[in-house]
Amino acid sequence: MSVIGPLPSKGSATLQNLHLVDVVEGRVRSGVAIEVRDGRIAAISSGSGSGVDGAPVLDLGGAYVAPGLINMHTHFSLSLPGAVGAEIEAMDAAGLALYMADGARRTLHNGITTVRCVAEKGHADFALRRAIESGRVEGPRIHTAGRALACTGGHGHGSDDTMECDGADEFARGVRTQIRAGADLIKLMISGGIAGEHETITTPQLTGEEMAAAISTAHAWGRKVTAHAGPADVIAQAVALGLDCVEHGYELTPEVCRLMAARGTALVPTLIVTRAQAFFDELGVPAWMQERSLGAGERHRQSYRAALEAGVEVLLGSDMPPFWPFEGTTAAVRELEHMHADGLDAAATLRAATIAPASWLGVDGDAGSLEVGKWADLVAMPQNPLDGPSALRDLDFVMKDGIVVRDGRTS
Ligand SMILES: [Zn+2]
Repeated sequence: MSVIGPLPSKGSATLQNLHLVDVVEGRVRSGVAIEVRDGRIAAISSGSGSGVDGAPVLDLGGAYVAPGLINMHTHFSLSLPGAVGAEIEAMDAAGLALYMADGARRTLHNGITTVRCVAEKGHADFALRRAIESGRVEGPRIHTAGRALACTGGHGHGSDDTMECDGADEFARGVRTQIRAGADLIKLMISGGIAGEHETITTPQLTGEEMAAAISTAHAWGRKVTAHAGPADVIAQAVALGLDCVEHGYELTPEVCRLMAARGTALVPTLIVTRAQAFFDELGVPAWMQERSLGAGERHRQSYRAALEAGVEVLLGSDMPPFWPFEGTTAAVRELEHMHADGLDAAATLRAATIAPASWLGVDGDAGSLEVGKWADLVAMPQNPLDGPSALRDLDFVMKDGIVVRDGRTS
C-alpha cells in the first residue's frame, strides 16, 4: 500500500450479539445491533440490524460493548528520575517520536480511544497527533497541552516537557507559545510534587499574578486550563481565578472541594501515583521519591473522598502511561479500580472514564457514549463494567473510527 495519499481511517461494520452499555443511563440494553457507517454510529436497532453496504458483520458473542475510554492525564514521553527516565531524556527527536508512537499504539490497543496529554517533550505530541489523524500511526485521539508551564526551578523543570516562565508577562507568553504550536489546553504547575528533588508537594510555586495572567490568556483564546496542584490554599486561589481542572489534588480540604464543586472545577485524582511502588521499582526511581510518593497515599485518599463528598466531578487519569502493565492489568484500569474502591459507584466510575471527560474536552457530541451520530469508538469485554471496573481487565476488542484495531477472537 502506498504511504502517499489518503489512508483508510474510517470503517463501516455491523456489530451483533452484544449488550450495549449505556453509560449515561447506567443500564445495559440487550438484543441490539450497532451499525457503523464511515466511522460513526449510524443506527442502534433491535435484533441483528439491517447491515451496512456489504461491510463486515461481526458477532460479538454476547460481549458488553462500552464507549472507548478517555484518559485525562497522560504523558507519552514521561521520564521520572531514575535509569529508565534517563534513557528517555537522552533520546533524540526521532527516537522520542518513535517511542511515543509505540506508546500511542499500545494505549489504543488497551481500549483508550482518547487521551489528554498534560506535558510532552519536544512538541512531538503535535507531530504524533497529526500522524494519528492522518492514519499513518495507530493511536488514540489526542488533546494536548504541549509543554507545561512552570516557574524557574518549579515542578518538572529541567525536562523538555516544561517551559519555565517568571512573571505575568512570561506566563501569558508561555500560554501563547503553546497555542501557537497547537495546544488544545494549557497545563500549569502551580505547586510542587512528588518527582521534584528541591520541593515538597505543598510548595506554592506561582504568584497570583502569574496564575491570573495564564488563566485569563488561555480563556481569551478559548483554551481550558488544568493545573498540577497539591495544597488546598493554592488550589483555592487558582479556582477563584477560573481554573478548569485540578490534577492530583494531594491535599484537598472539604472547603476547597466545596469551592471546586460550586465552580464546576473537575478533579483528575491520579490515585495510582501514590500507590505505584512496583512501577517505580521497574523504572529505577530513587528511594527519596518513592518514600514521598507512597507516604502521601493516605492523605491523597482522604482528599479524593472529600472531593466525592462535595460532589466534585472526578475524571480518569493514570499519569503513568495508560497501557503500562500494572498489578495484573493496565495503569488506566487499575486507576479506575482505586476510584471505585475509594467510594465512587460503578456507574459513576464508568462515566468518569467516558462521558464526563468527553464533556470536559468539549467532544461529548462525538464521544463518551454509544449514540447514533457519535464516533464508533468502542470497547468490548465478557463481563458487565456496570458491575465494577474490574470487568475492563478482560477487555479484548477495540474499535476506533469504525475500524477494528484489536479483536480478542483472533489475536
Ligand atoms: Zn503527570
